[in-house]
Amino acid sequence: MHGLAYAKVNLTLEITGKRPDGYHELISVMQTISLADDLSFEPAPVLSLECDVPELANEDNLVLKAARLLGQTGRFVLRKRMPFAAGLGGGSSDAALALRLIDEACHLHLPPERIVEAGAKLGSDVPFFLYGGTALVGGRGERVMPLPDLQARWLVLLNPGVPLSTAAVYGALDPAEYVASPRSQYWTGQDVPPLVNTLEAAALRLEPRIAAARARLVEAGLPAVLLSGSGPTMFGLASDHAEAERVAKATGGIAARFVGRTDALALDYSASA
Ligand code: ATP
Repeated sequence: MHGLAYAKVNLTLEITGKRPDGYHELISVMQTISLADDLSFEPAPVLSLECDVPELANEDNLVLKAARLLGQTGRFVLRKRMPFAAGLGGGSSDAALALRLIDEACHLHLPPERIVEAGAKLGSDVPFFLYGGTALVGGRGERVMPLPDLQARWLVLLNPGVPLSTAAVYGALDPAEYVASPRSQYWTGQDVPPLVNTLEAAALRLEPRIAAARARLVEAGLPAVLLSGSGPTMFGLASDHAEAERVAKATGGIAARFVGRTDALALDYSASA
C-alpha cells in the first residue's frame, strides 16, 4: 500500500504553560499542506526500511517505531520530499501514515482511538496527522479536534538552512511569554486565523539568522509571515497560486497549498507514486 505523508504548518501555536510532566501545554491550529513524503508498505516476514536519505535509514526512524508498536513486520520504502528537522512535522507525518498503512495492509481494523493512542506514543504531532486537514490541537498535541476544511490557500515555505533544535527553542521560552488567554480557542474556523506563534520570539533569540528568511518573504510581497512550529522554516500566506510561485522563485522558497482532510488521508494500492 502507498500514501503521501503531508507536511503541516501551525497557523497558530500558543503555549499556555508547562506541565508537571515537563511537556508544554499548547493550543494550535494545524493545517496539512501539499509538500509530502512518499511512503509504501507491504507485509513481509522481516521489518525493513529503504530510505533515500541515508542518515534517516536507521532503527530510530519513526516508521520502524510505528511498526514495532503495532507488532507488525513488512517492507517500507520512504522517499523524503520535505526537509527534515524543519518544523514541518515530517517524521510525525511519516509515523502517522505508517500506522495507517499497516492497519490497512495487515487488515488489523484497529479502532481509531487505538491508532491515535499509538500515535501519541510516537510523538506529539502524530495524532494530528492521523486526522489531517485543519484541526485545533491541544494538550501536548494529543487532543485533536478536527475542523471543516479551510478554503484552499497558497503559501510559501522558506527554510533558512540553519539548525534549530525543538528542545532548545522550548528551553529558551521565558515563562513570562506563556499566553494566559489564547486566541486560538475562540477561532471559529471559517477563515485562516490571525497568525501567531509563541515560540517565534524564543527561536529568533536563539538563532537571529532566521529573521532574514522572514524579511525575504515580507520583502517579496507576503506580509503575513510566521515561524512554523519550533522552526526554523518560515511560511508566508499568498493571495493566490501565481503570487506563491512568484515569491517562491524570488526567495528560493517552496510554493505549497493547503490540503484538505480527504486528500490528506488518501491511501492506494500501488507500490509507489
Ligand atoms: P516537529 O515539527 O514535529 O519537531 P520537524 O519537522 O522539526 O518536526 P522532523 O522532520 O520530524 O522534524 O525530524 C526531526 C528528527 O526526527 C530528525 O532529525 C530525525 O532524526 C528524526 N526522524 C525519525 N524518523 C524520521 C522520519 N521518518 N523523517 C524525518 N525525520 C525522522
